[in-house]
Amino acid sequence: MKFLVHTYGCQMNVRDSEAVEAMLLAAGHEKAAGEDDADLVIVNSCTVRQKAEEKAVGKAGNLIAAGKVVGLMGCAVKRMGEDVFKRLPRLHFAVGPRAFGLIPRIVAEGRYPRLELAEDLVPGCLSAHVEGGWQAYVTVLLGCDNRCSYCIVPDVRGHEYSRPAREVVAEVGALARRGVREVCLLGQSVLRYGVRNQAWEDGWRGEAFPRLLRALSEIDGIERIRFTSAHPKGCTDELIRVYRDCPKVCRHLHLPVQSGSDRVLAEMGRRYTRAEYLAAVAKLRAFDPEFAVTTDVIVGYPGETEADFEETRSLMEEAGFDNAFVFKYSPRPGTRSAALPDDVPTAEKERRNQVLLDDQEKRGQRRNEALVGSVREVLVEGPSKRNERRWSGRDGGNRIVVWERAGSERAGDFAKIRIVGAHPQTLIGEMA
Ligand code: SAM
Ligand code: SF4
Repeated sequence: MKFLVHTYGCQMNVRDSEAVEAMLLAAGHEKAAGEDDADLVIVNSCTVRQKAEEKAVGKAGNLIAAGKVVGLMGCAVKRMGEDVFKRLPRLHFAVGPRAFGLIPRIVAEGRYPRLELAEDLVPGCLSAHVEGGWQAYVTVLLGCDNRCSYCIVPDVRGHEYSRPAREVVAEVGALARRGVREVCLLGQSVLRYGVRNQAWEDGWRGEAFPRLLRALSEIDGIERIRFTSAHPKGCTDELIRVYRDCPKVCRHLHLPVQSGSDRVLAEMGRRYTRAEYLAAVAKLRAFDPEFAVTTDVIVGYPGETEADFEETRSLMEEAGFDNAFVFKYSPRPGTRSAALPDDVPTAEKERRNQVLLDDQEKRGQRRNEALVGSVREVLVEGPSKRNERRWSGRDGGNRIVVWERAGSERAGDFAKIRIVGAHPQTLIGEMA
């Protein structure tokens, strides 16, 4: 059987899709070259915003209309439950975010329609990886217990659960033996690793995540370790010591702030103030002024005033973000904020969104210009799509670097690139 997986949403979904592909390949199935060639198309869905859900469900609907056998997996399935078959009456199967390990069995049995919302993971499903490539995502923390007022993730991805450290270390070791050089550890609030349940089996009482970073740093072949997403409360002195002691741990943190207004932060239940957030950024930059900090922001949260918005603007300037993802607030069923009036008009959300993007464009340009003249260690990704002679890769700060190919570099290698020019989201370089 030939299959294809389409993925919407965050890195967690990208990772879950990869695991599904690996399991289907291991079961003897083949990856299709395209939709026309596929006997089965699986759509991995997101529901964090209404538009994201519509995109994924719309895609599945189009495939069904074209006569395909379609499976839907991921967050939107959990949100809709049995209603998924009302939205997509001819859908073959639907599996929730923790049930993707059942897909090979569902396909083998071929009994449709079928809905699986199990919370128990199929053993081994988290460590299934597709062979090849030099970068890999590794899920270390599942679910989320934070319950931010606007967020549907805890409802669909379930309670926080830290995978045993032993299992994570073994998985990264296996990836290293296959040639993987960079791992990115995933969790909604990854610095809470080992907080709700013990991750280390030896009764360790210290900070579990920094210890995991130290353990993974010891693995030969792994050259870079990233992780996402972070929370200011996790930016401890021990984390800074890990950055100092372990050069493989990349000096980049994705630290979603959501708002710069203390009033809005409190309503969102984010558990930090503006000052605490900025103190965390200052701590990282005091350690290394080039430390890359990126963020997520929501505009148009219920009751967000012009003054609140200006607080977000000024926080973003003070934090000096290297990159920012800006989202327009979207009420999600069952969340606390869904009970509040969605009172910022769409046009105003659009305006605030654009203002922040324009600010970030200028800030990105400024921050990148400051790197002109420096030599970056870049993991080579390959030729750019538009121009074969131009190659691209990323530095430790996750910044995209583009250069004219010298000829000797190969994808998966590390190259030293001298920066000669800057754009808001890209550095231009030459082989050093
Ligand atoms: N766990 C991460 C954290 O809390 O830092 C983020 C997870 S969420 C999948 C990714 C981003 O989507 C959030 O950081 C937030 O900016 C945005 N988001 C979540 N719920 C949203 C909503 N209801 N409307 C608009 N954006 C939302
Ligand atoms: Fe959602 Fe907050 Fe959990 Fe992030 S930390 S997934 S925003 S509830």
